Amino acid sequence: MITFPLQRTTPLPGGYMGKILRVNLTTGSLRDENLPEEPILRKFIGGQALASYILLKELSLEATPLGPENIVVMMTGPLTGNGFTPGGTKMTAVYLSPLTNTTLGRGATSGYWATYLKAAGYDGIILTGASPKPVYLYINEGKAELRDAASFWGLGTRATEDRLREAVGHREAKVLCIGPAGENMNRAAMLANDYNHFAAHSGGAVLGSKKLKAIVVHGTKRPSFRDKAKLVDAGWRWRQTLEQHDVKKKKTKYGHGEAWGVLNNLNWRSTELSPAHIHGFGDNDVVLRPCFQCARLCPWDAKLGEGEFKGTVVHFNAGGEWLDTFFNLGIKGNAVLYLAEKINNLGIECSHFSCGAGVAFEAWEKGLLGPDRTNGLKLEWGNVEAVGKLLEMAARREGWLGNLLAEGPKQLAEAIGGDAPKWAVHTKGGTPAMHEWRPMLGQMLRELVASGGMKPQGGGSTKPPPDLRYRETWGPLSADSPDGWAWSHVLSEQYRQFTGIFGGCWFAQMNQKPDGLNSIVDAFNAITGWNFTMDQALEAGHRSMILQSVFGTQRGWIADFDWQDVGPRFLEPIPDGKYKGFTIAKWLPDLIFEYYRLSGRHERTGRPFKNTLDQLGLEEFTPWSQEASQL
Ligand code: SF4
Repeated sequence: MITFPLQRTTPLPGGYMGKILRVNLTTGSLRDENLPEEPILRKFIGGQALASYILLKELSLEATPLGPENIVVMMTGPLTGNGFTPGGTKMTAVYLSPLTNTTLGRGATSGYWATYLKAAGYDGIILTGASPKPVYLYINEGKAELRDAASFWGLGTRATEDRLREAVGHREAKVLCIGPAGENMNRAAMLANDYNHFAAHSGGAVLGSKKLKAIVVHGTKRPSFRDKAKLVDAGWRWRQTLEQHDVKKKKTKYGHGEAWGVLNNLNWRSTELSPAHIHGFGDNDVVLRPCFQCARLCPWDAKLGEGEFKGTVVHFNAGGEWLDTFFNLGIKGNAVLYLAEKINNLGIECSHFSCGAGVAFEAWEKGLLGPDRTNGLKLEWGNVEAVGKLLEMAARREGWLGNLLAEGPKQLAEAIGGDAPKWAVHTKGGTPAMHEWRPMLGQMLRELVASGGMKPQGGGSTKPPPDLRYRETWGPLSADSPDGWAWSHVLSEQYRQFTGIFGGCWFAQMNQKPDGLNSIVDAFNAITGWNFTMDQALEAGHRSMILQSVFGTQRGWIADFDWQDVGPRFLEPIPDGKYKGFTIAKWLPDLIFEYYRLSGRHERTGRPFKNTLDQLGLEEFTPWSQEASQL
């Protein structure tokens, strides 16, 4: 079946706009494609899965991540922009990853941009080629055009959003853009949208290589739905499961790592939490913000009320990786929020910077790096000014150190030499989300494998979600034993995947609450008019995982890389505190072997077995299955 029919012969399910915009940046041509026929949509739905399927069909095996032949596919899902449920906000972008050169790159974002892409008439965008000069794409009420972006090139993400909204003359227009890091192809450059939202994992570098500064969307269309009463009911039930964020926590908490009681300090060499880490947070003026029709209120802004940077306004989403990013460099208090705002404005993925800068600071401490290679900066732990300047250098690839920070911690550590490669934290050249995951078995497994890709999903849970107990009877799992964690992670990857490919935000997926998953599947069915069971939803998530591995397989990734190509520091025993001595390493590679086996893939190659492909309706990829391979 052809992917994009000239004339659809099957009805368009509810929730879809029916069109994908294809942009050839080399020639400047723009073309509408019809969305695939219903059998393809049922299989891949949207988000990462549909985008990966399109990418697998179109991307040459010879493509390089930052060459014009790389392709970016951005897809929403049927839930995106529906207006009746929380969490209907997602857009996922896929491409060949500049971090690994072999695996699927994937960034996803919430906020308003994806809703407005659909309001402008499109479910997704395919970007091919590379423009000879900076441009931005403007899509307004179904009409798309490429416009000159010379006067916006060089701007940070905040000014780019503001100036482009002015330029198009619509205050309601939504902007997805890159900052200086993307323009200079920092390998971990992000996409930024709606001030508080970022799609990490290199999409910004790929847009920079294509000289595409931004995509501005505006429109007034709304996606359809098939059963309003059921949708309203499912949306209400979904809303009941949500835990709302709270201002007090932004003023008193250390971020995500506090949940298990450890932070990254001094390049992952201490896990201490001290009141100094959050000094001044209590004086900040914090405001929580919604995403489109979502009351979980993850995004938040603050005006700093204390310290050297008092008066600075900062914009974040939930997650808090950017806190640990600067804690890891010895910085504490409101200077952390100031630097986090700066890194977001430059558009660099925070863990990539932190793990690279951490190696540089440690090398300075141990005498392997001097001012001759730091542009004169003193890399002393806690030096806020030096970190601020390093951020600028990394975004623009300035100097020896700036250029290597833009490459990544692995490349920087190798260039420093000596013992430095032992101090790097990375997975296959990319970096884990910036939290001290090492005491957490499921989360560590997630960060290591990511189905071979570069942006993990899942992480497991000690007990199955209540909505899955009709089929899952295991647990509770122990934090000190690997038993059961491989399957727990496989399962969680499946339900995280299905939420995303439906167009839902996984921050809104309260999987450990009753109705946390059922309400999402019911909302999806009410919108599309389909009748997916929970098992079918999980199968759709599984299919997306398998596509990710097929993509890597085609380009030389093997599952052994997941445990062999890891920065040694990430697998070291915890240095201190309540988890001292703990490491997942004693259970590797067996735990990774088990993960691949349980999900229908070969434990050494990561290739799906032929019967896995058959079961999932992915027979067209049989040449990449384990049985068919020569490996
Ligand atoms: S869960 Fe949070 S990030 Fe996701 S859509 Fe809702 S408010 Fe936005």
